[in-house]
Amino acid sequence: MSKFWSAAIRDLTPYVPGEQPKVTNLIKLNTNENPFPPSPAVEHALHHYDTARLTLYPDPDSTELKEALANYYGVERAQVFVGNGSDEVLAHAFMAFFRQEKPLLMPSITYSFYDVYCNLYQIDYQHIPLEDDFSVALTNYTTENGGIIFANPNAPTGRSLSLDEIEALLQRNTESVVIVDEAYVDFGAQSAVALVDKYPNVLVIQTFSKSRSLAGMRVGFAIGHTELIDGLERVKNSFNSYPLDALAQKTAVAALQDQSYFEQSVAQIITTRQWTTEQLSELGFKVIPSATNFVFAEHRFIEGAELMGYLRTNNILVRHFSRPEIDNFLRITIGTQEQMEALVACLKQHPDLG
Ligand code: PMP
Repeated sequence: MSKFWSAAIRDLTPYVPGEQPKVTNLIKLNTNENPFPPSPAVEHALHHYDTARLTLYPDPDSTELKEALANYYGVERAQVFVGNGSDEVLAHAFMAFFRQEKPLLMPSITYSFYDVYCNLYQIDYQHIPLEDDFSVALTNYTTENGGIIFANPNAPTGRSLSLDEIEALLQRNTESVVIVDEAYVDFGAQSAVALVDKYPNVLVIQTFSKSRSLAGMRVGFAIGHTELIDGLERVKNSFNSYPLDALAQKTAVAALQDQSYFEQSVAQIITTRQWTTEQLSELGFKVIPSATNFVFAEHRFIEGAELMGYLRTNNILVRHFSRPEIDNFLRITIGTQEQMEALVACLKQHPDLG
């Protein structure tokens, strides 16, 4: 605490990202990164980049990237916003749309950054409990101009909602901005991008950090009605006019253009997720059905914290959340097949599991 801090930050509990260790001999299944390298097209783009261009500021509008995204998703360029990772896109969206008279509605268990942004921007919010099976209880979300945010698929639970459920929500909530955070959508859920032309109040946010293996480049984007995109641009231009650096723009375009590599690596992760789910179930875990690149699993009689510690001493990192409702669960990123085999082999060595 410092006397120099403003009232706005005095009570803040900043988001602490998952562990990013400096050592490399770990099997890192704790922050939902992609275990595969980005497309070879990304390497090619970096290799052939004219470094003399780095003396110049990058394109402030990320024109080429927006165009590529617009083509890919079948929307206009003016319906696309890009930022430094979807975290930054979310930050701008909270600032642009959510400081309303009514509270922002969000799931009780979801991406913890949402609470952090609400506290930072002093946005009133309300948690809507999940169903007993951990699905987002979308029928309980109704507000007039308060705003709604949820992740589909949700994190850290991994469950997804159907497009019909999302559309029904949009029909009930025409006066509020509804953000669908689709960080993990490519691993098995339906994208609400299909709804943006019909519902001017829905903003879909995605990232290159997961399915495109570019977490290190920090590229996120939003798709929605131009009215919402204009709102985001207003915040961006008052904050950092050059959100994406030149290499981030270049590599994101390259990644987007290699469709077959994208499909292949996503399919591999889904196959390995299925295998991991079966193996964990055989070892006595209850595994929540996942549409993401991670599984959320609880052992029937061994505590989550104890299992996380056991794996950690064996150089395997997984994520555990110290919250009473999910204290027994581990969130395990789907790595390569070899990494998951090492995880399962390690669990089988546990004195209570073998
Ligand atoms: N949304 C969700 C649900 C996430 O899990 C994450 C990753 N931690 C993000 C957004 C942010 O991802 P990034 O900033 O890397 O795009």
